[in-house]
Amino acid sequence: MKNVGNIKADIRNLSDVELQDLFNFIGEIMTLNSLSNNLPKDCRESRFSKGEICPHCNSDNIIKNGKLCGKQRYKCKTCGKTFNDFTKSALSYTKLSLETWIEYAKCMVLGYSIRKCADIVNICVKTSFYMRHKILDAVRMFMGIGNVEGVVEMDETFVAESFKGNHMKSGFVMPRPPRKRGKQVKKRGISNEQVCVATAIDRNNDLIIEMVCKGRVRHSDLERLYKGRISDNSIICTDSHKSYIQFATNLKLDHKRIMRGHYKNGIYHINHINSLHSKFKEWMLRFHGVSTKFLVNYLYWFKWLQNFSEDKEIIKNKNLLIHSTINFVDTKINNFKGRKPIFV
Ligand SMILES: [Zn+2]
Repeated sequence: MKNVGNIKADIRNLSDVELQDLFNFIGEIMTLNSLSNNLPKDCRESRFSKGEICPHCNSDNIIKNGKLCGKQRYKCKTCGKTFNDFTKSALSYTKLSLETWIEYAKCMVLGYSIRKCADIVNICVKTSFYMRHKILDAVRMFMGIGNVEGVVEMDETFVAESFKGNHMKSGFVMPRPPRKRGKQVKKRGISNEQVCVATAIDRNNDLIIEMVCKGRVRHSDLERLYKGRISDNSIICTDSHKSYIQFATNLKLDHKRIMRGHYKNGIYHINHINSLHSKFKEWMLRFHGVSTKFLVNYLYWFKWLQNFSEDKEIIKNKNLLIHSTINFVDTKINNFKGRKPIFV
């Protein structure tokens, strides 16, 4: 084992490029250390920002109950169950180190595929898949559908329906012959083989993005999603799609229709929603098709990245994990197989 004196002597012999490389490496290690040292405390403070409660029954009648593997345990005097700071979060039941989760969060902030994350973090693909969806289930709960106000641009986009990951062995029956991975939907126009994702963005960049139906969107689908989520006196801007007319009338919203080729209408335009759709489509390409039952999680992943795009990367890595531990979620690996697509 070399002591620091020897290492320092060795460092003197390094080239500028090697020194820079070493400098970056040390920086990374120090950040990782400080993150993993502070994360449990940060998570606990965010999670119990309104006071400590039991994740099983929400009672506040809890006491400390010793430590297990260095982690503080608590006992609820109301329901008698024990828990720790990560019970019912993305990080519950994990055998992996906190450092592994931090590395994983880093890969997710960069938008890497399941396989790429697995390679970088040095875990198997199956584990990578579970970590991804445990984090995203929690993030979905943390963010919620949300609200928009003021000038609101709205439009819908489509994602090809996919049964990827549904195994015949578990009794799944394919409703149609499978498409080749990443292949476009054959039918012309919009069919029921496409999942409609409704989106709305206001001028504060508040974003709603949800799966609403298969095929063309009807005004009733829009109402189901947006009712109670658009503040009064808002002005919605849409393209010429007819469903928005009935929708705006029924919800008593001021409605500006931007006809094709007339994108400039002062402050009333749909440029932001159009550019959001381009970003979303481009971002999704890397995944080569997403199983419809997990699509909602990818929508929230995209929404989270949009929401916090201004933050520094290191803050994002930390916050992704904090946001994965704030709400009480009960994602169990056994439930992944039987999961159904989540339409609003
Ligand atoms: Zn309890």
